[in-house]
Amino acid sequence: MKEKISVGILGATGSVGQKFIELLSNHPWFEISEIAASDKSAGKKYKNATTWNMASLLSERIGEMIVKSCAPNLQSKLIFSALDSSVAGEIEEEFARNGYIVISNSKNHRFAQDVPLIIPEVNSDHLELVKIQNFGKGAIITNPNCSTIGLALALKPLHNNFGLEQVNVVTMQAISGAGYPGIPSMDIQDNVIPFISGEEEKIEKEPLKILGKLSNNEIKFADIKISAQCNRVSVIDGHTECVQVKLKNKFTKKDIIEIWKDFKGEPQKLKLPFAPSNPIYYFEEDRFPQPKLHRNVDKGMAVSIGRLRECSLFDFKFVIMSHNTIRGAAGGTILIAELMKAKGYLEKD
Ligand code: NAP
Repeated sequence: MKEKISVGILGATGSVGQKFIELLSNHPWFEISEIAASDKSAGKKYKNATTWNMASLLSERIGEMIVKSCAPNLQSKLIFSALDSSVAGEIEEEFARNGYIVISNSKNHRFAQDVPLIIPEVNSDHLELVKIQNFGKGAIITNPNCSTIGLALALKPLHNNFGLEQVNVVTMQAISGAGYPGIPSMDIQDNVIPFISGEEEKIEKEPLKILGKLSNNEIKFADIKISAQCNRVSVIDGHTECVQVKLKNKFTKKDIIEIWKDFKGEPQKLKLPFAPSNPIYYFEEDRFPQPKLHRNVDKGMAVSIGRLRECSLFDFKFVIMSHNTIRGAAGGTILIAELMKAKGYLEKD
């Protein structure tokens, strides 16, 4: 590709916004041209508007960039949104109406009938929905909730091969999932908080759309019962999920592990820059996966799974771990944009 595609980032000063800036620093196809945030940040140099929290150094080019307000007058037609959900709905729609292709991390549009909720390895075919949106050259595409992404990636091969009936999931979610500065240290250190507002509802509902079937421009939701309990724990990055599944057809532990290990999707076939070589990495060791050790497996884009064993209530149980701001947010969104580029969706008629 000769010229890189310009991208704008909305909500560039937050946890996910910073991760976008870090991950896009050397991207072969995309280049950040504009960054935007709230009126409190607009007009400032980026380095003065944000508390840079990434492990890599902030580049001088981005640090000196002036933060814009989130108005649809940006040059870049491709927009990555990491806006707070209290404002994302209206702002993203305004951008789409003005011809921008917006890929959003917020919850606001995930259940609109004509908005795809995409995990590129799982339901790339759902992107077709953008063709029935009424935004002219603009569009809205959504990235799922960070815990949903790890869960749905693990469930997809099980659902395809064995048929899923019921899922029970208990999450242990990282602090960075609550944005910056997030939860006060006095509340989270030495503690587990057994409530994350709205999270259980998202995890119980989003996989049904993602694993659903697209037919006649409509998604028929998967017929699976999911129950979720969500906890915030004292881990910086990486959500862990303890999962129990009931399957329609009975298979062995060996079959399941093989199916996970063989699982690949469109990003792997298309060799997209952000695609992990394997979306699922299965650990045989009983003490794995662990967020501290495995959140960066395959650039933070792979889901780590371990401890698959029989369950006395359901059929099987296992543990999932995935990086919430990479696979679960910025990295997942970049992968959607790469998929859209590779499939010709960025040149919407
Ligand atoms: P965050 O750290 O709180 O950042 C929120 C961003 O929104 C900031 O850039 C903020 O700009 C901007 N903003 C707030 N009010 C605004 C307004 N009125 N107008 C324009 N911009 C405004 O949150 P986050 O964790 O990055 O999450 C961003 C979105 O991604 C949320 O919808 C969240 O649910 C979703 N998400 C987060 C994660 C995660 O792991 N953190 C994972 C998946 C999805 P200022 O700095 O100028 O206030």
